Amino acid sequence: MNEKIRTFLREQARERFLRYVRINTQSDPGSKMHPSSEGQWILGRLLKEELIELGVSNVELDARCYVYGKVPASAGFVGPAITFCSHLDTSPAESGAHVTPVVIENYDGCDIRVPGSGKVLLTTAQSPELLLFIGETIIISDGRTLLGADDKAGIAEIMTALSAFKAFPELRHPELRIVFTPDEELGAGTDAIRMKRMGEFGYTMDGGMMGEIEQECFDAWELSLVFNGRNIHPGYAKNRMVNAAATAARFVGALPEWESPEHTENREGFYHVTRMEGDESLATVKLIIRDFDRVENSRRMDYIKHLARTFELRYDGLEINVKAKNQYKNMNEVLRRYPDVADVAKRAITASGIAVRENPIRGGTDGARLCFLGVPTPNIFTGAMMVHSKTEWIPEVALEKASEVIVRLCGLWGNQ
Ligand SMILES: [Zn+2]
Repeated sequence: MNEKIRTFLREQARERFLRYVRINTQSDPGSKMHPSSEGQWILGRLLKEELIELGVSNVELDARCYVYGKVPASAGFVGPAITFCSHLDTSPAESGAHVTPVVIENYDGCDIRVPGSGKVLLTTAQSPELLLFIGETIIISDGRTLLGADDKAGIAEIMTALSAFKAFPELRHPELRIVFTPDEELGAGTDAIRMKRMGEFGYTMDGGMMGEIEQECFDAWELSLVFNGRNIHPGYAKNRMVNAAATAARFVGALPEWESPEHTENREGFYHVTRMEGDESLATVKLIIRDFDRVENSRRMDYIKHLARTFELRYDGLEINVKAKNQYKNMNEVLRRYPDVADVAKRAITASGIAVRENPIRGGTDGARLCFLGVPTPNIFTGAMMVHSKTEWIPEVALEKASEVIVRLCGLWGNQ
């Protein structure tokens, strides 16, 4: 890949990224609308126009705010149809209104300060990866909002690769399918996705650190426990009252603390209480369990059921109802049957001059759902760091490199 193309990728990716992050697409878990926020429509409409300008065919912004497009293969290029997917929304965790990106050129390796005020925004101790980008350009928010690199970086990288295919026809590619999904941060990114618009397999551009490829995510369950107690005037309650709220609290206290998010990392799983409420007669506990190994999660589920029975025996009259719902599965169950999909991506990352980093995702991804809907979809880095926070940042070089990875990846599929 020559210098001219690299410069094109860098400039395009930066310009697009800085433009897209200014549109507030924060999703809203309290909304009943689809998508959950108006801003996603604004970005969706803009991307639809830009895809049409790039000569992409079958461009569509559908009634649920999914953006689709299709790019025919380069003439004579034989290869499978590939999907590239990113999400329109940003996390509800922090405001996405009036994002003002700050561009720090020639980063000096020091803590990052809020422009103007001099207040420390982000230290190298909080985000040691900063030190890997000394001399590079860092883009960060001004500390009032998140940056929105998750996932505007992914969108900018896909759009940049498409514009490179248009500007440099010598960059050859198979048939491409593009999809931008709404409300991914609410876990709804694939709820209304139309699978006939997908390719044979795909890649989500939604990962973190430059060089990363992710083929594994949590096996995820949500549990709801309802404690039915027996209430009576507390002055006359001896041997009669069964306090639902108090027994629920003891129940939560009996979960192993060492298997909590606060005490686990890497491949370790956990129990995590997300909500508790109640009174003497009725209490509810919501919790999630996570692991890479579904057998480990079955063990956790069994423990909770046994604990519930034990509590019922211990407190005569107490009834505990346990309901479990699978949220998403570990995509590795699918991806390990299609090793080429990630292997070609790794070759593209290496060919782009960066080291491959392989990590399991301690969370979920749109790709996990797509895998189980029949489209094997690992996750590739965007370069976004400290996502879902006011200190979210991205090195500009990652925007360029992720775009380059997409371009190279497409070329490599033709030589299979
Ligand atoms: Zn994301």
